[in-house]
Amino acid sequence: MKEKKKLSLAMQIFIAMLLAIVMGLLLQGQADFANNFIKPFGTIFLNLVKFIVVPIVLFSIMCGIISMKDIRKVGSIGLKTVVFYLCTTAFAVTIGLLGGNLFKGMFPVIATTDLTYEASASASFMDTLVNIFPSNFVKPMVEANMLQVIVMAVLLGFSIILVGEKNAKVVSAFNDLNDIFMKCMELILKLSPIGVFCLLCPIIAANGAAIIGSLAMVLLAAYICYILHAVVVYSLSVKAMGGMSPVKFFKGMMPAIIFAFSSASSVGTLPINLSCTEKLGAKKEITSFVLPLGATINMDGTAIYQGVCAIFIASCYGIQLTLPQMLTIVLTATLASIGTAGVPGAGMVMLAMVLTSVGLPVDGIALVAGVDRIFDMGRTTVNITGDAACAIVVSNMEEKREKKLAEKK
Ligand code: ASP
Repeated sequence: MKEKKKLSLAMQIFIAMLLAIVMGLLLQGQADFANNFIKPFGTIFLNLVKFIVVPIVLFSIMCGIISMKDIRKVGSIGLKTVVFYLCTTAFAVTIGLLGGNLFKGMFPVIATTDLTYEASASASFMDTLVNIFPSNFVKPMVEANMLQVIVMAVLLGFSIILVGEKNAKVVSAFNDLNDIFMKCMELILKLSPIGVFCLLCPIIAANGAAIIGSLAMVLLAAYICYILHAVVVYSLSVKAMGGMSPVKFFKGMMPAIIFAFSSASSVGTLPINLSCTEKLGAKKEITSFVLPLGATINMDGTAIYQGVCAIFIASCYGIQLTLPQMLTIVLTATLASIGTAGVPGAGMVMLAMVLTSVGLPVDGIALVAGVDRIFDMGRTTVNITGDAACAIVVSNMEEKREKKLAEKK
């Protein structure tokens, strides 16, 4: 019965996506209509998702940590998670750079003389680091600054563990609150087929085939790399380290994948990602820690996009990147992806930081800005799939570790 219910939501979202594509194509040339009358309903849905995301991240990370009861265990899971995230992201940029280089010959030569792109100031690495730490208790929640919310959750979670037995009442109250927010999220998610339709349709109506045409090659390069990374890296890791068949993994992830593709927001996809990975068998204490963290700091798709676009922009300007420059891109794109917010369009802003790091003209972003949303849909899908793969892997590793410990006893 439950199985049937799951299938039906996935199916509903899928049908909504197909309908949005058909309707979007029919509405081409009437983007105003789609923007004025269809998009607002998508925005309502996205607002509701944003509304629930802060309490979900705060309470799920906090309750995840509390349920581990042991700071060392949190440390071990945290370390595995961060290592997985950093390695897969560095790999992703490399794939992006290789893909970009392979396709370089096919990139169009674009007149770059009168390009202008006002790069919104992207923070330096040190500023990014400092900004992770909140200076006010309420502000991170009000501003939905997710990195700061994570720091709050970790600090509070650790403190609750350290205070110990005495605060059993607080623990049970937090767990109850977590359940309430989860229920609220479930209600909001019931609207996701409508949300997906209303978000996707105006994009198709506005970005008709014409704009896509001239940048088809760089889009194709990025999408091939996205798919390659997902199929190779995530399949191998869930198979080898997560003990799960890749087919089962991708099938179970479908609702989250379709949702991420339509919404272009990792943070917005978080609730649906939590439910997909738990249904796939990942432990709740792990998903509630790994996924909110991943939605904020793990962006493999964004890293691929930055690799491909760096090569594309360099080639449009007739610049040949050297090997050390490419290594610099691997490093900065990995760091940039940590600082990228899980909301639509954030990756493009961080691209400025990557380009600057190797002396490429930031104006070049104007070349890809027009189709950013199309890049974004793919990169967000990869971003959230990477988070889910990590949850499956870490959950399986922890299970094995616990079994071993139990056997020793
Ligand atoms: N939209 C992406 C995400 O939410 C971030 C990006 O723009 O690359 O994961």
